[in-house]
Amino acid sequence: MNGFWLLPLAWLSIVGSLLLHYRRDLWAVWREPVLRYPVMIVESDDWGAGPVETQASALNRLVDVLSHYQDQNGRHPVMTLALVLAVPDGPAIRRDGQYHRRLLDDLLFEPVRQAIERGRAAGVFALQLHGLEHYWPAALLRAAETDERVRAWLASPSRTENLPSPLQSRWIDASTLPSRPLPEAEIQRATAEEVAVYERVLGQSPRVVVPPTFVWDERVEMAWAARGVEFVVTPGLRNTCRDADGQPSCAAGPIRNGERGKCVTYIVRNDYFEPEKGHTFVDGLAALRSRSEQGRPCLLETHRSNFIGLEAECSNAELHRLIAQALRKYPDLRFMSTLELGRAMRDHSPLLLEVRASRRLTAWVNRLTELPRFWKLGRLIGIAAVLCLIATKIKRDRRSQDQ
Ligand SMILES: [Zn+2]
Repeated sequence: MNGFWLLPLAWLSIVGSLLLHYRRDLWAVWREPVLRYPVMIVESDDWGAGPVETQASALNRLVDVLSHYQDQNGRHPVMTLALVLAVPDGPAIRRDGQYHRRLLDDLLFEPVRQAIERGRAAGVFALQLHGLEHYWPAALLRAAETDERVRAWLASPSRTENLPSPLQSRWIDASTLPSRPLPEAEIQRATAEEVAVYERVLGQSPRVVVPPTFVWDERVEMAWAARGVEFVVTPGLRNTCRDADGQPSCAAGPIRNGERGKCVTYIVRNDYFEPEKGHTFVDGLAALRSRSEQGRPCLLETHRSNFIGLEAECSNAELHRLIAQALRKYPDLRFMSTLELGRAMRDHSPLLLEVRASRRLTAWVNRLTELPRFWKLGRLIGIAAVLCLIATKIKRDRRSQDQ
């Protein structure tokens, strides 16, 4: 053979080996739905049973902020509210030492329910299940036997955000670490109970669940699905335990958008908008830009603590700026609920999903940078540069066709 060909052949065989080695990841990224339009959803957790006046006024302010804007289709920006349906009844617990709860349908929480309903009716809030409680009650009682802080919290409950982090996980027993799994019968009983309470209090069935602290297992998932839940929000993996240091662990993943689990479909939420932690509208815009280039939705995680604490005014201002700038930079931006997004992805809706191979290819290349080992090796041997060149060429051709 002519020696001239040896070098290209050697290069091709290295590239081939790399692609072969990462074929499963590359195929999984290719199969993930590609959106035709930029989509932004603010996913917000921990609302519901809890402080009354602060939550009610924060929710009402959010309705005003979100109602101010519309996309091309006349849809307002949607903030999902992952709802907690009960908090401990401190006085009752103090009386007999047993666990008692106050449910969201208690008269006490009426201002919160009214604010939630106002936002739902205006089309700016979409309701999701977070949990009957933001903890596993039996684990809390067990922890209280040895931990003075937990005992004090139970007797006079403040926000669940103040509990030790491992105890905020609902679907494990983290009274001692490492955590222990819950018995199957308890999972069945608790999922049936939380779905029934959700339906009674909110007049609708939960279709989307955001597992508290993102710790749950397949048994919980199957129990939710049996009661009508269609989608589970995940940061891209599933933690099933807390380790000896209390950190979420025993992870399975990566989980990708639209992937099927045990009877449910996953939606990935892995961008953040937490002004109390220093995130500004600029960070939100950067996330939207990168997700749009990848053909992925931009789901921004946030929590009620941003909107009910000292940072509330700043958080609202940043949210205002984020939405205004997002609409200015992306005139084709779409607003929708996570449930609508999930159903469009699961049902392969041509209204939202891209079918043109060239556009899917561009999104695929842009996603590959998030396979760090593949991308590092790809840059080393030059295949990353080739893929980027192809993507840029497709983009240029598309622009000139559009003009
Ligand atoms: Zn939470």
